[in-house]
Amino acid sequence: MEGIWVLAEHTAGQLRRITLELLGKGRALADARGSRLVALVLGHGVEPLAGPLAEHGADGVLLADHPSLASYGVEAYTHVMSRAIHEHRPWAVLVPSTANGRDLAPRVAARLGAGIVTDVEDLWVEGEQLVARRPMYTRKAVGTVAFVGDGPRIAVMLPKVFPPADRQEGRRAEVRRLEVNLETVPVRTRVVERREVRRERVSLVEAEIVVSGGRGLRGPENFALLEELAAELGAAVGSSRPPVDSGWVPHDYEIGQTGKTVSPTVYIAVGISGAPQHLAGMSGSKYIIAINKDPNAPIFQVASLGVVGDLFEIVPRLVAAVRRLRARA
Ligand code: FAD
Repeated sequence: MEGIWVLAEHTAGQLRRITLELLGKGRALADARGSRLVALVLGHGVEPLAGPLAEHGADGVLLADHPSLASYGVEAYTHVMSRAIHEHRPWAVLVPSTANGRDLAPRVAARLGAGIVTDVEDLWVEGEQLVARRPMYTRKAVGTVAFVGDGPRIAVMLPKVFPPADRQEGRRAEVRRLEVNLETVPVRTRVVERREVRRERVSLVEAEIVVSGGRGLRGPENFALLEELAAELGAAVGSSRPPVDSGWVPHDYEIGQTGKTVSPTVYIAVGISGAPQHLAGMSGSKYIIAINKDPNAPIFQVASLGVVGDLFEIVPRLVAAVRRLRARA
């Protein structure tokens, strides 16, 4: 199955939102080239995903179903995906820019000698060329990159940039199973333990609103203020690196160069100075609201709205204001 491929990420038997976003973009590219859109699924017991993939625009579904693929493992996934691309020669492969996608795509590209562009926030066809746009240097510049040559083109796509594909009920796709043989694959790592972080909170990467706290919060107990604001707004809570390093919040709160990349509609930065390494993870947000007592804090240079003042006064007033508005609505 040639054409445009989307690596379909899924969790707990459901397609992730980013998969639907990539199917939407993939569909547009496939239509532009007059080719097929194919979803590649790796996992175990993944056949039920074929229906939703077809309904969201896939013309073909390739299933690599094997017990050893039940959870992400770098060697097995790299092997299976590289072989599939090598055998079927897709024109382009769209990979989600998630923890797994970012780990997997460069390995596959290196193994196949394929071109790869990461952090893609737009992708289009110009004649026979695939062209990508990507932010660079912590979003101080935007690069336009064209794939050269005729090998497979791998684009690692940022989340929450493309709208999810619409569902067309009853739409069907050709479903094929890939032969998976992992006997010759040297497995150098294995999952020793899996701990689910179960929190009753909105996913940071998928949230429309993110409330994020920095060192200015002074201690773990003060994150309760942000949780309260987030609960009123239906937002997710994140943080800069110091609160993580100090053990105030779990590691998966961290946003930035060494943390998550988020691009919500609204990002509220509370007691965060705006270091380049933090901006790298959030400057793609549509509106940035900064609360900081230092009028010269660099965060104000990227903020759509800046509030200079003490967060311990401002955040409770903000919570009260949102409550009042919600009560009126
Ligand atoms: P600070 O820079 O200390 O800023 C605290 C801010 O709070 C100040 O601006 C202050 O004015 C304000 N403040 C204090 N009290 C109040 C108050 N009462 N009311 C209002 N405002 C107040 N950082 C990340 O965030 N994410 C990353 O992924 C990341 N990766 C890194 C990777 C590398 C290789 C390196 C070297 C660093 C990385 N960092 C990262 C760290 C980064 O350089 C900064 O040190 C960090 O972002 C600063 O966090 P902060 O803004 O919370 O703290």
